[in-house]
Amino acid sequence: MRSLIASSVCAVLLLSACGKSADKAASAAKAAPAAQVNEARLLAANEPANVGQWMSHGRDYSEQRFSPLTKVTAANVSQLGLTWFADFDTRRGQESTPVIVDGVLYVTTAWSKLYAYEAKTGKPLWAFDPQVPGEWAVNACCDVVNRGVAAWNGKVYLATIDGRLIAIDAATGKSVWDVSTIEKDKPYAITGAPRIAKGKVLIGQGGSEFEQRGYLSAYDAETGKLDWRWFVVPGNPANGFENKQMEMAAKTWSGEWWKTGGGGAPWDSIVFDPKTNLVYVGTGNGAPWPSEIRAPGGGDHLFLSSIVALKIDTGEYAWHYQTTPNESWDYDNVSQIMTADLPIGGTTRHVLMQAPKNGFFYVLDAASGELLSAEPYVQGINWAKGIDKKTGRPIKNPEANYSKTGKGAFVSPYYGGAHTWQPISFSPNTGFAYIPTTQSSYAFVAAKQDDNPMGQKLSISFAKSAEMSQRPDAPKISIGYLQAFDPVTNKEVWRAPVEGGRSGGAMSTAGGLVFAGNTLNEFAAYKAETGEKLWRTDTQTGALAGPVTYEVDGEQFVAVVGGFRQTGSYWAPNYSRLLVYKLGGTAKLPDVVEFPAQVLNPPAAFGSAEVIKHGEETYGRFCSTCHGGEGRGSSMFPDLRYAGAINSAEAFKTIVLDGALAKNGMVSFAKAIKPEDAEAIRAYVVSKAIYAKEHPPTPRATPARAPAAAVPAPHGG
Ligand code: CA
Repeated sequence: MRSLIASSVCAVLLLSACGKSADKAASAAKAAPAAQVNEARLLAANEPANVGQWMSHGRDYSEQRFSPLTKVTAANVSQLGLTWFADFDTRRGQESTPVIVDGVLYVTTAWSKLYAYEAKTGKPLWAFDPQVPGEWAVNACCDVVNRGVAAWNGKVYLATIDGRLIAIDAATGKSVWDVSTIEKDKPYAITGAPRIAKGKVLIGQGGSEFEQRGYLSAYDAETGKLDWRWFVVPGNPANGFENKQMEMAAKTWSGEWWKTGGGGAPWDSIVFDPKTNLVYVGTGNGAPWPSEIRAPGGGDHLFLSSIVALKIDTGEYAWHYQTTPNESWDYDNVSQIMTADLPIGGTTRHVLMQAPKNGFFYVLDAASGELLSAEPYVQGINWAKGIDKKTGRPIKNPEANYSKTGKGAFVSPYYGGAHTWQPISFSPNTGFAYIPTTQSSYAFVAAKQDDNPMGQKLSISFAKSAEMSQRPDAPKISIGYLQAFDPVTNKEVWRAPVEGGRSGGAMSTAGGLVFAGNTLNEFAAYKAETGEKLWRTDTQTGALAGPVTYEVDGEQFVAVVGGFRQTGSYWAPNYSRLLVYKLGGTAKLPDVVEFPAQVLNPPAAFGSAEVIKHGEETYGRFCSTCHGGEGRGSSMFPDLRYAGAINSAEAFKTIVLDGALAKNGMVSFAKAIKPEDAEAIRAYVVSKAIYAKEHPPTPRATPARAPAAAVPAPHGG
């Protein structure tokens, strides 16, 4: 990215005229129209004048991520080649869907940075860095990712990991307004893309697992003034309720739920439907995870894990449908919502569709919220036996309620869901929804109420879960695939397995193709009807973000962002980058550069078995989410066994307690751990480093691991 920043000094001043005088360039930039997106144009997104655009997060208001472009087809997709790429200045995870308007491509990266490129050539136009504080990373459950921008009336809108919403002049890359959407002392984080409708910028946030109360906000796109805000869960009744729905929702809770925030953070899907004038928002799970700890005594816990319809003009409640009442399994219901017209029961119904974490595919009437169908899109679901079509409620399996039974339970889907944030697509041509799908289960074990002063408060025992997963009766299946699902017959039509990995987001085209990346460093095109893999390319990193396609000067381009935080190429860095392809493209990625060989040089073992055990537990609680089980690191975070700092108690303390690396996101943990805990962590990591040194890996193999199970990192919102 260094080269981009150097050349962007020129590019910021002018959109297309490098070499002209600065004055002329500045006036050209002022006059140059950019991001000319408005309601009329979005409504006409599929008209000939706009088919080459990708003007909003899900391409148009329906968020089907279906493009009418037809130049790239099953017959010629084999000629697709890289035409340009842009490396980002970070190795963190990437989840962004680019937006393309009139030949300019806007893409966000980790740390909430935003870049504008000439979409045809990749020429950098400008860069915007909101300067988020590195230490805010501790308030994000799942890395400092960002999923993209909204474009409207000459501006692009970016939401940041530290909770700000920023309007940026699309021609110059300069901030127009910048507002905080959160109370600054609360651990919220925004990873999602804003949406814009009726001149209002809509944005939610993450924070459920940090015991916060979720809400959706609408800001005036021109001024940044808060227009309305809708809370997902009720607050303390003693403070009064914001509206009638909160009063109604409070009756579905018990105990003193407001003390733990409740959760429900709407961190991804927000969809406006011009046909109903409603905005649909997917709400997050409850926190802490076990419902009996969150609010003992049962109840549905509205509006957790629901789809809620609000009136766009006022933010007033219209209807809701709760997919997972009394939720206990991290079943966020924030996955992408799409609107469509489907032939159901001999008539055309205007519906919304969702494939949320809990494994059922929901089709609801968009105007009324009436449940039309809810069938499994993945095998092995055991938290519910099905959905009762009369009541709309799940037929729950009491054994899966580990929260109530007090016993651990193997529950499928696992906490990461059968599908979560990766974009899905619907092709009106095939009538299929394309879903990146995971079949897996997890051993849920409740712990006592979590008093963690930093990071997530899940009230889950990861140690007992790891023990349980060693049992012979532990389900062994964990597979990922891209599937085509027919939302009318509720049948899987085809699947493209991702052996040993996970599928990325999907995009379909009128060229009869579906595009998706995966965690195996691959980006591929499939025949939309059959799933036949027609083309693939090596991305050198996992690509899970939503692909897009657009047209400039008569040529069709396909773009995807790569950069996955647990990518399999352990010995190579995570290449976070934007990749753009076209027919006959001849650009080449540079060769993979392996990490320089690291030498294990741990100090002599120290600390009693008891101290090391304490270090292991403390590590599991505070360190493993980023640094992995056993200090193994990943392609994004340092492998602590090789870290020089483990040789010195003082150096280790400077980082862990004094925050010497806070700018990089390694915050001080002084609020949560004492000096003796830090030293116990060091003793544990040193013991792992000594083990690895005594069991050297074969060249280019994953470095040796002790036989104990890795601690899983929670995922999602
Ligand atoms: Ca969650």
